[in-house]
Amino acid sequence: MDIRDESIVRPPDQPLDPATLTFGRQFSPNMFMVDWERGRGWHDPRIVPFGPLSLSPAAMVLHYGQEIFEGLKAFRHADGSVHLFRPDRNAARLNRSARRMSMPELPVELQLEAMRTLVAVDREWVPERPGTLYVRPAMIATEEALGVHSSNRFLFFIITGPTGPYFKTQGTVRILVARDWVRAAPGGTGFAKTGGNYAASLIAGVEAERCGCQQVLWLDAVERRHVEEVGAMNLMFVLDGVVTTPPTSGTILEGVTRESIGVICRELKIPFVERAIHIEEVFDGLEKGDCTEVFGCGTAAVVSAVGELVDYQNGTERVYKVGDGKEGPIARKLRETLTSIQFGLVPDTHGWLLRV
Ligand SMILES: *Cc1c(COP(=O)(O)O)cnc(C)c1O
Repeated sequence: MDIRDESIVRPPDQPLDPATLTFGRQFSPNMFMVDWERGRGWHDPRIVPFGPLSLSPAAMVLHYGQEIFEGLKAFRHADGSVHLFRPDRNAARLNRSARRMSMPELPVELQLEAMRTLVAVDREWVPERPGTLYVRPAMIATEEALGVHSSNRFLFFIITGPTGPYFKTQGTVRILVARDWVRAAPGGTGFAKTGGNYAASLIAGVEAERCGCQQVLWLDAVERRHVEEVGAMNLMFVLDGVVTTPPTSGTILEGVTRESIGVICRELKIPFVERAIHIEEVFDGLEKGDCTEVFGCGTAAVVSAVGELVDYQNGTERVYKVGDGKEGPIARKLRETLTSIQFGLVPDTHGWLLRV
């Protein structure tokens, strides 16, 4: 499919300074769009100036939340070239999310072409290291109808925006164990990147803030004891020197960062296993010193070390410190290795980078 180009040229007013860019607040001047209609399929792919969508107030996405999204980054290398990190994995995951949410799949080739073309058009908006261009594809149900059914029309679009490091300082976060709410249940939508999962999780974030925490640690919905995710990141522990993470069997989102860290661990000869982990095992390990590191991983923050776990139950608060409260050596090694690949400081031996 040929992408119609109606893009505008608008370079940044000032050189982009990664130190002052906040995540998700600034957007590049152009966006990609393509429409889908039952019986007609995907049509009219185009790049147009970034701006408000024209949508009926009866559009199904606004009432029933039929929506999915993705998140990935483009990196500027020292030679000026721009590269997307593993966009094929995001495109495949978008289609897994689409199937779960009864939405049409979008050919991976078209997704990649759209991302590449859009980032190329706005390449001046890709900051220098350590800044990145965040790329946000999304699909929404646009049919004007209030009867509950799967929409007959969808819009897929991609917006992008320059961003600095997710955390200004590589500090650690304080995490509240979520006892009252669950993020995802077996048979539900936990593995899909869909807005409703986020909407349902916001209340726990508010509760976390009241305890001086930045995020919550999600437990499984059935037994309420297996650890699953932290905020909107996958979760890893260093237990007896082994990087340990729960398996993604339906209730956990299959993170591209998580998968990449597994590969990097194997190469660096850092033991890595996927297995069920009980929260009591984590608390025990933290008390005895067998659990030396806890960290979340995801595209936005890459690796985010947890400094403290807070458990609030029946009116008593227990605080478990992780190591010395700072980022541990394995988290740092993994973060540095991954970002070195992304920024082209070391050779991309896995073919993870797609040049724009
Ligand atoms: C996006 C997301 C992640 C991280 O996935 P990456 O591909 O590594 O960015 C983890 N958990 C949830 C719930 C997410 O939405």
